[in-house]
Amino acid sequence: MTQSAISLIESDRPKKWQEILSDLITDPKELVQVLQLDLAAQPVSLAAMQQFPLKVTKPFVASMEIGNWNDPLLRQVWPARDEEANVPGYVDDPLKESAANPVAGLLHKYQGRVLLTAVPHCAIHCRYCFRRHFDYDGNSPSRIQWRQTLNYIAGDQSISEVILSGGDPLAASDQHLGWLISKIEEIPHVETLRIHSRLPIVLPQRLNPELLSLLENSRLNMVLVLHCNHPQEISDEVQHFMGKIDANSITLLNQSVLLAEINDNSTTLAELSHSLFALNVLPYYLHLPDKVAGTAHFSVSREKALQIIRQMENQLSGYLVPRLVQEEAGLPAKSRLR
Ligand code: SF4
Repeated sequence: MTQSAISLIESDRPKKWQEILSDLITDPKELVQVLQLDLAAQPVSLAAMQQFPLKVTKPFVASMEIGNWNDPLLRQVWPARDEEANVPGYVDDPLKESAANPVAGLLHKYQGRVLLTAVPHCAIHCRYCFRRHFDYDGNSPSRIQWRQTLNYIAGDQSISEVILSGGDPLAASDQHLGWLISKIEEIPHVETLRIHSRLPIVLPQRLNPELLSLLENSRLNMVLVLHCNHPQEISDEVQHFMGKIDANSITLLNQSVLLAEINDNSTTLAELSHSLFALNVLPYYLHLPDKVAGTAHFSVSREKALQIIRQMENQLSGYLVPRLVQEEAGLPAKSRLR
């Protein structure tokens, strides 16, 4: 039987989400010590640490396996030497988001939808992140700038959906989120608010009663898209806090990134789909990783991805098979791969 790190970082009392968010593991030596690993076997990349430092929540670490450098959760957060490879075609801004950034904090890439970078930080640094080089300094609006951003949405009648992304929007305080959501609600042509977040997985205590009340009582159609990549991420705590969401008020979806040697097989992804469905969450997207500098070692070929999806189609009911998609700069929507 494998041993998880949970007993090593357990607390004797339930902690508030803000306490957990302010007590992240950012030192590679601490992470290695908790997981009883030998740093010499997998040296940390100082260059990667400088560009995109290690950052991980203790609840996420608690789901990692002791003594296993190949743990699928650890591989998602460890700044490995592989990130130093300079691979042709892998660039800082593969989706050319800087060209779709008309006002601070807002990306307008697709017809009818805009994306707001609600906060400039996350609770975890996922090494494959397509925004690891994003200009968050230029996209952290003050209250006055937020009003300009909201005016942009109010001035375009074609925008019916606002997407809160990040950073991680649920890393914002209830007060800030409440303010932002109330301002979006005041714009009559906005019908839907979609929130993309990894916090319900990596810091499930974030699903506190105040947040759920805010989301469940909005006049907007509320969609929460989790970012979960592996069934091992769905801990007892994740199940406990996800069980508090009223699925009649909030549509629950998941998107995963297909990651080499982490979840690139149909058995793992089928298990993930079943585990998500047990939480009232539908598997929505499976993304091919974007070609971001420093992440080439995570890439999976299109052929292999299609093979995995076909295997999933043979194993699962249709509603448990996510759409395999790829995002390409300049196209009016994500491309579905078949
Ligand atoms: S939580 Fe999302 S935005 Fe933040 S580092 Fe991970 S993938 Fe990137």
